[in-house]
Amino acid sequence: MTTEKLDLRKIKNNICKIAEQYGFQDARVSDTATEKYMPAYKEWIAKGYHGDMYFLEENQKLREFPEKLHPDTTRIISLRYDYLSDKANFLLPLKDPNLANISRYALGRDYHKIMRKKLQRIASDIETMISQSFQLNYRVFVDSAPVLETLFAEKSGLGWKGKHSLIINKDAGSWFFLGEIFINLPLEVDEQVEDLCGSCTACINLCPTNAIIKGKQIDATRCISYLTIENKGAIPENLRDLMGNRIYGCDDCQLACPWNRYSNLSNDPSFNPKHNLQNISLLELFQWNENDFLKNFEGSPIRRIGFEKWQRNLAVALGNSEADDQKIAVLKSKIGNISQMVDQHILWALEKLNSKDKRSISDKQKKLINCVTNMLPRDA
Ligand code: SF4
Ligand code: SF4
Repeated sequence: MTTEKLDLRKIKNNICKIAEQYGFQDARVSDTATEKYMPAYKEWIAKGYHGDMYFLEENQKLREFPEKLHPDTTRIISLRYDYLSDKANFLLPLKDPNLANISRYALGRDYHKIMRKKLQRIASDIETMISQSFQLNYRVFVDSAPVLETLFAEKSGLGWKGKHSLIINKDAGSWFFLGEIFINLPLEVDEQVEDLCGSCTACINLCPTNAIIKGKQIDATRCISYLTIENKGAIPENLRDLMGNRIYGCDDCQLACPWNRYSNLSNDPSFNPKHNLQNISLLELFQWNENDFLKNFEGSPIRRIGFEKWQRNLAVALGNSEADDQKIAVLKSKIGNISQMVDQHILWALEKLNSKDKRSISDKQKKLINCVTNMLPRDA
């Protein structure tokens, strides 16, 4: 199909305007080439850094060649959607080990559905805009298929890939979701931006489990996000202490990043915390039964991990919190209720709470608290 009659520059401008109307802060275009990136990706997989996320091993050809994932794709539009709520409350859970520390993106509604619906509408509006002269072929993605989303975001200039492996935008930090629209429209590609990490190593130094490795990669088997969300089995004992009170994901590398001084707050109330999750005790959450979990997390990404992993994560965090009789009694009362795997973590927690070891905030955490205090006066 010919594109001769199309004013591609004007169409691209209109796409950006449409994206803005649907609440996206940026929309930029890249081609589909991945060959420069694939060797590093394959090496990461070969070294087993992906843990048991076997889906990352599969469909390599689809990942490598976006036009195989969706035929006729010639361009990828990467879009940015800010999610940081003004109620994010970074400091309290860092300072108080009895509070739940939940990744900021997961405090409110599940972004997958929200983003997919918006991307679908944008693509449909583009289709309507050019339908007289061109048959648009498109597909939208939000974390749902073998798509190298950070690669395309970086190629498009949406930001650069930081040493912590996330995309950073110099004017907006890194608290945003990414989405992609694969299309067959040969739009002009945008330029990649400069990597501004420079000699900074704050994220590497402050990662609680030393999960950030060279080459802007993460050893997922050590990363708390992986351990609390993707990991299906027991959490390795040598990492449990280091997890502290993080029960769903981890934001520490983003909190450490100086570029997040410039982060924008989201205008979308969907990502405001629900059920007071920004300031809720571990014990209260641990006392929710499975029905409470399912009901309270209706529409939340946390529901995806299921009740067993949720209880496993909470048991570890309670083991890392301050001991008191009520916690010990509640932990004991849950033994035998869910699974052997959860019991194992409860027993570990009880052993820790019964030991005489005094809880103290690690030096890393103290430094992180300092970073956050200086960085986010609005949250202090
Ligand atoms: S999410 Fe947490 S554990 Fe994972 S790399 Fe970042 S700081 Fe480290
Ligand atoms: S903390 Fe420093 S090294 Fe890490 S991503 Fe941010 S700027 Fe880059």
